[in-house]
Amino acid sequence: MKSIDPLLWFEVLNFQQTQLKQIELMLKKIALSSHSLVFSGITGIGKKAGAVYLAMAANCSQVIKQIDSKPCTHCRSCKKIIAGTHPDIVIIKPDNGLIKISVIRELGKILVYKQNEARVRVVIICDAHKMNKEAANALLKMLEEPPAGTWFVLTVTERLDLIPTIVSRCLHIRFYPISVEYLIKILVEKYKEPLETAKIIAPFASGSLEKAVFMAGNNWVDLRHNLITELDMLLNSSVVEQLVFTEKLSGKNFSDYMEIIKIYLRDLVVVKYHKEMLVFDELKDKIDISSKTKNVESLISYIYAVERILQMSEKNFNNRLMLDALVLEKSKCLQSEKLQAVSVNPCSNN
Ligand SMILES: [Zn+2]
Repeated sequence: MKSIDPLLWFEVLNFQQTQLKQIELMLKKIALSSHSLVFSGITGIGKKAGAVYLAMAANCSQVIKQIDSKPCTHCRSCKKIIAGTHPDIVIIKPDNGLIKISVIRELGKILVYKQNEARVRVVIICDAHKMNKEAANALLKMLEEPPAGTWFVLTVTERLDLIPTIVSRCLHIRFYPISVEYLIKILVEKYKEPLETAKIIAPFASGSLEKAVFMAGNNWVDLRHNLITELDMLLNSSVVEQLVFTEKLSGKNFSDYMEIIKIYLRDLVVVKYHKEMLVFDELKDKIDISSKTKNVESLISYIYAVERILQMSEKNFNNRLMLDALVLEKSKCLQSEKLQAVSVNPCSNN
């Protein structure tokens, strides 16, 4: 994946002005006491950048001289924080999807000592909801009796994914998804994507810069085209061929593949009634032709099934097994539809 320049993240924070104002107000009022914050919102919208911004604003040598709390980005402290070399700004991230108690214990050892050079030490715990129970309880003890001049910032998707005792101790700031227009602008200006490609990608990034950059770097437009072409053929192919396809789908880009399939199935239905309302609008002709050979009820039941699989996938169900079950279930439905077409509905186009 193309990495995102830390300075670009600060530009993206322009989109989170309300949140920055809240941070600046807090710093003005209570900078030198200890505090705990939760920054919530989807991945890739600048929550960690917001926490780093807070660390910079709290320690910037220029902020002391001026009325507002905006960090200058070029004093010694700001530069060190941007470069990730400041000794008093601790950033913890999940390892293999988990933050273990050993990491929190290590943090405890650091916090025993007074900070080296910062006015305010900042501990940023990214994806804090990935702490296991023991780690969360160990952190809670630190939040209950925080070392002087230390701020904790926990970033999470949903605040309620944290244990209630942590939530109740933290002030909360919610970060917003980034607008489609702004994502297009960044993809074109910073990543040199063609405008047409950026316009196709941005609406599917769910407001996440990280996702948009990932999609651009992984030829999402080509991937989508190939997936749809294959899916079209497979909807009318044998169960065995479909099961081979599920193996391919259940890999690392699973949820992206499933989102594309869901939207495509939706467009196959919509094109029958409102051609102007397609999501994959630039594929209108292809969708129109493909839709003519497919039955609405069957498409809708596929959409429900894909939605169900996406929800279960978030709960760590086995992707491959779920897809296999879908193929086998649809195969059974198809048999029944064919029987109906012969005996009840001679006009069926399936
Ligand atoms: Zn500065």
